[in-house]
Amino acid sequence: MKRDSLVFDLIAREEDRQRRGIELIASENFTSKQVMEAAGSVLTNKYAEGLPGKRYYGGCEVVDKIEQIAIDRAKQLFGATWANVQPHSGAQANAAVFLACLKAGDAILGFDLSHGGHLTHGSPVNFSGKLYQANFYGVEEETGVIDYDKVEEKALAVQPKMIICGASAYSRDWDYQRLREIADEVGSLLLADISHPSGLIARGLLNDPLEHCHIVTTTTHKTLRGPRGGLILMREDFDNPWGLTTPKGEIKKMSSLLDMGVFPGTQGGPLEHIIAAKAIAFEEALSDEYMHYVVQVKKNASIMAEEFVSRGYQIISGGTDNHMMLIDLRNKELTGKLAEETLGKVDITINKNMVPFDTKSPFVTSGMRVGTAAVTTRGLKEDDMRKIVQLIDRALQNHSDEAILSKIKEEVNAWMVQFPLY
Ligand code: PLP
Repeated sequence: MKRDSLVFDLIAREEDRQRRGIELIASENFTSKQVMEAAGSVLTNKYAEGLPGKRYYGGCEVVDKIEQIAIDRAKQLFGATWANVQPHSGAQANAAVFLACLKAGDAILGFDLSHGGHLTHGSPVNFSGKLYQANFYGVEEETGVIDYDKVEEKALAVQPKMIICGASAYSRDWDYQRLREIADEVGSLLLADISHPSGLIARGLLNDPLEHCHIVTTTTHKTLRGPRGGLILMREDFDNPWGLTTPKGEIKKMSSLLDMGVFPGTQGGPLEHIIAAKAIAFEEALSDEYMHYVVQVKKNASIMAEEFVSRGYQIISGGTDNHMMLIDLRNKELTGKLAEETLGKVDITINKNMVPFDTKSPFVTSGMRVGTAAVTTRGLKEDDMRKIVQLIDRALQNHSDEAILSKIKEEVNAWMVQFPLY
């Protein structure tokens, strides 16, 4: 077969884009070469519906071993007693949990999308808002921080069957203990979606959700630095609540319901090539090198936040506890859209983002979200964070001056050559 140069040339262009630019999208990272090698391996050829040792296909002896290694390493990394490594993505992991734990029409309580939550936590355009009765809590306008007394009030009012915590754009740590007390008070399950900070959580740099939450979901490709994918975890298995049964009427433990929520509930055959890549990433995340990495991610974010604040940028909640921050650009008379476009011109990649109580549309927005997971993998340190913010500030202040922007782009490209990628 002829090599498909059309696609491979584009892949080469994307590699070049990643190499020459400064990557600040909070949900992105650069995975290792061995993770990519596994993701591009012959395992992509294999069907393996079911779980290790209990498959609906022959020839699974090798992938059984690989998937079991991934499960064991995920459990070790997060101190869990149960894990399902098959979700194709974070959204799929959440879909499987919802299907396992809820009936259509049940009330749920999630973190508002426009305050930093995720689409799968009840947005009306997502299955979670279409199939369930979605309610939301948010941050306080003055502080940008969640007031847990208000979450309790809301939970008492709406009596959710599941409370969801975790976010795509919240720079503060979560009080999982308090949330569990609220969940227990209203007889609700508590799900933590730790997709963003999971790498920091795995290595003990943030509060541990597994200690208090019934179920935890995460993506594997953000701070965790693995392949694109999802993961579901529990510290302890428990009897299913509300007498939920399988379609055959059997009462099962939560672990079985969750396994069934993944397959056959929401997915077909697992991606064993990605599961192998997850296994490798979990082992990497258990290393001392990764521990240094996550410590640096956090340090870098805190210095970056400091530098933004010193230049008059308003960070929601005033700073960060994790790897990212959400910046309100209204006092700079900029929109998120303009910031994203301007920084794109100088090869700095960020994303526009709604800020709490935003009056602009999601296509325009009043904010931008930045994170340090990818640049830290690239080897950048504290002083580099200050320099990045200087470059951003210069570009945004001169957003209509193409000559200045093109000079900044040259600076960015020349600088990034010093941080080789792959
Ligand atoms: N949950 C949270 C909190 C996220 O931030 C994201 C992705 O941004 C997801 C779930 C969805 O993950 P995926 O894009 O892998 O479906």
